[in-house]
Amino acid sequence: MIPALMPTYNRADLAFERGEGARLWTADGRRFLDFGAGIATSSLGHGHPHLVKAIAEQAAKVMHVSNLYRIPQAERLAARLCETSFADSVFFCNSGAEANEGMIKAVRKYHAENGHPERFVTICFEGAFHGRTLAMLSATGNEKYLAGFGPPVQGFRHVPFGNMNAVRDAIDGTTAAILIEPVQGEGGVRPASLDFLRALRATCDEFGLLLALDEVQTGMGRSGKLWAHQWAGIEPDVMSSAKGIGGGFPLGAILAKEKVAQHLKPGTHGSTFGGNPLACAAGNAVLDVILAPGFLDRVDRVARHLWRGLEDLARRRPEVIEGVQGAGLLLGLRLRPEVTNTGLQDAAVAEGLLTVAAGMNVLRLAPPLVITEAEADEAVALLDRACQRVAPGAAKAVAAQ
Ligand SMILES: *Cc1c(COP(=O)(O)O)cnc(C)c1O
Repeated sequence: MIPALMPTYNRADLAFERGEGARLWTADGRRFLDFGAGIATSSLGHGHPHLVKAIAEQAAKVMHVSNLYRIPQAERLAARLCETSFADSVFFCNSGAEANEGMIKAVRKYHAENGHPERFVTICFEGAFHGRTLAMLSATGNEKYLAGFGPPVQGFRHVPFGNMNAVRDAIDGTTAAILIEPVQGEGGVRPASLDFLRALRATCDEFGLLLALDEVQTGMGRSGKLWAHQWAGIEPDVMSSAKGIGGGFPLGAILAKEKVAQHLKPGTHGSTFGGNPLACAAGNAVLDVILAPGFLDRVDRVARHLWRGLEDLARRRPEVIEGVQGAGLLLGLRLRPEVTNTGLQDAAVAEGLLTVAAGMNVLRLAPPLVITEAEADEAVALLDRACQRVAPGAAKAVAAQ
């Protein structure tokens, strides 16, 4: 018989009761080091006192009023996001897919209202992940996710990741925008080169296209800067954010320049829950911590420390790990074909470490941004033991004893 909870996930048989920082405990007292952070989402770790207090206090006052009224918490969060980014205006929603949907709607409206309704095609990249709604399945373009869900939504065209000639060849009179993740997350923690991001910006300017960034996974400090595109010294026209911005509370956002945002007038887009007082209290609390002086420098420092530890590990375990890739605290171990990422993930669980699998046989590490260097070292040590468990020949060596 089907479980009451719809079986859309391959869940590990672990249920956590409580957490603190980068630690999680199951009901039966097993302790884990959490280097998955609920898929790069629990950015401040578990039970962060400032976030917990902000949510509890706001919940006791008023949680939800709808967007029929002014919401001071949302006005404040939007103003702070604008002050600290390229954006002039922000729309709040509840998830990454929803932020991307709204972003593509904004892109299409921009061209339509500028007299070019025929320009509705967004160029996307192979290996991308933009979410699970019908339109974002098409933007993602992965056949596996699209199968069985009817004709794909029109207006998305895919080219190889990192290939500028392919991008330019794909541009024609119907092109509206280029949509890219600065680091492909689900696709295998693959960073776009900074030069590629700069070339995309220049190409958008040359052809009058909008540059749309999906920073759902890479944003809000994960890369060591507030937004990953800042490493390239460029600005998008519009950007999506979600995952880490609520620190685990569901919150998504579209950040846009005025020239784009001005086309989303009353009645063009909306959400019942989006930007409610409780979600925005969470968002403001997360921002308090991440914008505190020195916080992002610390993320950068710990990230470089973890990266060095993983590089050493890769050198010690060449039979398991091919290389390390990513940016900031979004790192991937590229595994040898003899080893599977889910196999190493399971071995890490046996050692007390939580990680997340990604595409192209990559094991993803996306710890809370508040981890210490000691916790980074501990994760590397646990991964070392997990590697010993899955190394080709390990089972045979044990069997032979
Ligand atoms: C997770 C993710 C999404 C989808 O976000 P949801 O909140 O699951 O809808 C979209 N884009 C990127 C880059 C993501 O990592």
